[in-house]
Amino acid sequence: MLETKGYAAFDPNSPLAPFNFERRDVGAHDVLIQILFCGVCHSDLHTAKGEWGGALYPVVPGHEIVGRILKVGDHVKKFAVGEMAGVGCMVGSCQSCPSCADGLEQYCENGFIGTYNSPEPGLETPTYGGYSNQIVVSENFVLKIREDQDLARVAPLLCAGITTFSPLRHWGVRQGHKVGVVGLGGLGHMAVKLAASMGAEVTVLSTSPNKEADAQALGAHKFVVTKDQEALKEVSSYFDFIINTVSAKVSLDMYASLLRRDGTMILLGVPPEAPELHAGTLIFGRRRIAGSLIGGIAETQEMLDYCAEHNILSDIEVININQINTAYDRMLAGDVKYRFVIDMASLENTNA
Ligand code: NAP
Ligand code: ZN
Repeated sequence: MLETKGYAAFDPNSPLAPFNFERRDVGAHDVLIQILFCGVCHSDLHTAKGEWGGALYPVVPGHEIVGRILKVGDHVKKFAVGEMAGVGCMVGSCQSCPSCADGLEQYCENGFIGTYNSPEPGLETPTYGGYSNQIVVSENFVLKIREDQDLARVAPLLCAGITTFSPLRHWGVRQGHKVGVVGLGGLGHMAVKLAASMGAEVTVLSTSPNKEADAQALGAHKFVVTKDQEALKEVSSYFDFIINTVSAKVSLDMYASLLRRDGTMILLGVPPEAPELHAGTLIFGRRRIAGSLIGGIAETQEMLDYCAEHNILSDIEVININQINTAYDRMLAGDVKYRFVIDMASLENTNA
């Protein structure tokens, strides 16, 4: 077993703190990665605080991982020692169900293995995520990362990037489409960049008036403060698609009413409580509400290559691991520009 250092949540209410644990040895098909950077997703916070139920404490969050390969198993074909690699939200799936056969491991009919907080086959302990110095992952769930990029800014692509890229691709967003993005946080700012790069007219729908200039700098064409009734009227029955990234309980009626006839709102945010929605909002206008979960491994690689080609990176604030609890507080307050990324070298300076 491999002695590993990290940070964990030990219960829903205490701050995250240093945690030493063991990872499995590098198997024939495994890759050992020294973690350089790990993004901080709102899903980390939901899980650490037990908001979704089923937290397997201690929880080591983190599923936006970029690092360097330290070791490969005897049968590893796609990766070599010294290369840069990424790991997103999944580290395993059955590889045999229809969804896995379609390259949609995130919809694995036997349940994918999450990068953290999933039972780990063959071990008593759960999977532990990227708030740590190293990780062992099957090569089928490792991504190739081009080294000539700002690697800290690449890390959030592994979740925020693919979670927004996948629905934009699935619903064929292109020039001529009007896309609304609800919530300018980690996912939202990537949705703006990606939808704009695909040629769509992008409008940010935000509760925070002070984010207007940033929204424009990120590539948005319009900015609507959702508390401003007059501004909302101007985009009534307007959008072909709305990407909804809100992490808290909200009424969906107001947002759905901004869809044109046959428009689609794609839910990405997973608030702990069910949202409200009146059937009439959908019926009048034949509107649709859909959901989308991260993306498959092949599509994640496609997204990473697309972003490298188009020079799309996340806008980040780099933090040390011992600032993670403050970062969670700021994320809850909507005060992130626009993703925190942990510099994992800072772990060496803690007492873990
Ligand atoms: P985040 O950085 O905290 O951004 C969420 C944004 O939502 C905030 O910046 C804020 O934007 C807006 N917001 C927050 N509270 C709100 C409220 N009460 N009413 C209206 N808007 C509110 O979070 P994230 O990392 O982007 O994650 C967003 C959600 O997606 C989380 O629930 C996360 O678990 C989920 N997620 C889903 C997937 C998936 O596969 N579907 C993948 C990753 C994450 P404004 O200030 O602009 O209003
Ligand atoms: Zn995430």
